[in-house]
Amino acid sequence: MKFLRKIELKEYSIFFWLVLISFLTIFVFIIYTNNKVDKALKIKSSLDNIYLKKTLKEITNNLNPRYVNKEYLAVSGDTYQSIINKLNINEKEKKIILDTILKEKSLKILRINQKFIFKFDNLSQEKVIEFKIETDRKNEIYFQKSSVGSSFISKKIKKNFKKKLVYKETIITNSLYNSAVNLGIKPNIIIEFARLYGFQVDFQRDIWKSDSFQIIYEEFINEDNKIVDTGEIIFANLKLQNSDLQLYKYEYEKNKIDYFDENGKSIKKTLMKTPINGARLSSSFGKRKHPILGYTKMHTGTDFAAPKGTPIMASGDGKVTKAGWCGGGGNCVKIKHNSKYQTVYAHMSKFAKGIKKGARVKQGQTIGYVGSTGLSTGPHLHYEVIENGRKINSQKLKLPSGKILKGEDRKKFEVSKIKIDVLKSDLISKN
Ligand SMILES: [Zn+2]
Repeated sequence: MKFLRKIELKEYSIFFWLVLISFLTIFVFIIYTNNKVDKALKIKSSLDNIYLKKTLKEITNNLNPRYVNKEYLAVSGDTYQSIINKLNINEKEKKIILDTILKEKSLKILRINQKFIFKFDNLSQEKVIEFKIETDRKNEIYFQKSSVGSSFISKKIKKNFKKKLVYKETIITNSLYNSAVNLGIKPNIIIEFARLYGFQVDFQRDIWKSDSFQIIYEEFINEDNKIVDTGEIIFANLKLQNSDLQLYKYEYEKNKIDYFDENGKSIKKTLMKTPINGARLSSSFGKRKHPILGYTKMHTGTDFAAPKGTPIMASGDGKVTKAGWCGGGGNCVKIKHNSKYQTVYAHMSKFAKGIKKGARVKQGQTIGYVGSTGLSTGPHLHYEVIENGRKINSQKLKLPSGKILKGEDRKKFEVSKIKIDVLKSDLISKN
């Protein structure tokens, strides 16, 4: 009996300690939680404090740099005045800067892509403290605010740049732009590349995965071996679905450069006014009495009468978007030349070999043959030019003329082309 009681007591004491520990834990937890809420409230109230808010604002303001450089590249249509007006400064300061520039003789002509760099002092009333304007790729004029008054003192600086020729090539995986950027090609070269190909390629739709390009262009390197600027594209090849679109830079007259394909044809391609040989214009663009329907209707193309079977040419480089039946137009071919122009050829007797939707065609290539299919009174070609979705008169089309190098010019171009090809293999071997 005595023994049993002892065990009971022992059990009781374990229970007592357990209860005590539990109470202690709860107590500590409550104190801790209260303290936490208190602290949060304190932080919140101090954040609401207007003085602290002001201090925070000052601190973050001071995080903005005092001096900021702003760069600008002149675009077509710019004047010195329009460029200065873009600056976020007061009228008085704008006038001082503009007068300073206009006084400078070497800045008489404002060029496209001319570079401006303005240095702003955010803590000063008159914000611009210095600015630089490029006169050409090798020289710039530096204007610094004089220590007295608001005027600027100018200084001509010769940049010590070295010109380097760069060769890059890649397969387009994602977009042309991304692939080029990944290769380290500067954006202004990519933009120029797109501009040069713009007449024959619709960059949104014509570039497919695993198409590729090659390019040679100039880079300007400073003493620290850093690229400070890019120059001109010397050569490029855009390989789309296994067809090469090459372009060579060529100075065809003193100080006049243009880009030509391997056959000496300017890449600034025009559409042909008459995409057929030996035909006569039988009906022009405009209102006319329809020969079959009998009533007056707008004629949205130009008709060329020619014997059945006469070859019809693609009026410019592009991609076939339709080669099939067009109702009243009979057998027709539609070509997309770029994002702006499309052409349509109707009433064909048959299509040329290989002409189907998606096929890439060159200017002058035979795409089909004259016929009288659809609503037609006799064999003729109905030719339409569509500009930005609107049918226009092909005979009044004003496009840059596609220069073709002939005779002596062609010989000189061939020499220049060989030099570029040699340069290309040289650069590839060094790559
Ligand atoms: Zn017609």
